Amino acid sequence: MKDKSNFDEDIEDIGVSENTIGDNLTHKKFFDEAITQANIAAKKGEIPIGCVIVKDGKIVAKAYNRRERTNDATAHAEVLAIKKACKRLKNWRLTGCDIYVTLEPCMMCMGAIVNARIRKIYYCAPNNNPNLNHNVDSECIINDNYVSLLRDFFANKR
Ligand SMILES: [Zn+2]
Repeated sequence: MKDKSNFDEDIEDIGVSENTIGDNLTHKKFFDEAITQANIAAKKGEIPIGCVIVKDGKIVAKAYNRRERTNDATAHAEVLAIKKACKRLKNWRLTGCDIYVTLEPCMMCMGAIVNARIRKIYYCAPNNNPNLNHNVDSECIINDNYVSLLRDFFANKR
């Protein structure tokens, strides 16, 4: 069983405090940019998924799903953003980086996120894939704007 008190200490050690108004504003800022990326994907006929990678409170990479455009099954927003962040930081280890992604990551992206040593995943809508096995701390902060974007996208497809 997970020791709650140790878990709380871990959170403090990495400089992430409990949910204060300030934290929620920070989350909102990064989710807003991730949703902007998702909207770009939607406009290009891609499933609307976007993400940003954040280090020390700054966005170091952003990307949106480009699977259709590139005919590349691996061109998910998270993978593309990880590639950009690694290039920019000149390091494949994204230590101290957090990822804000609109939809809970798939297994491929989870693997990439774990391999890149990303610290924490924040997402604003759950993925209904039951096979996800997270090895990274992650947190769903539901964002109604994004949930409607995703719902409308699929409603229009049908
Ligand atoms: Zn993925």
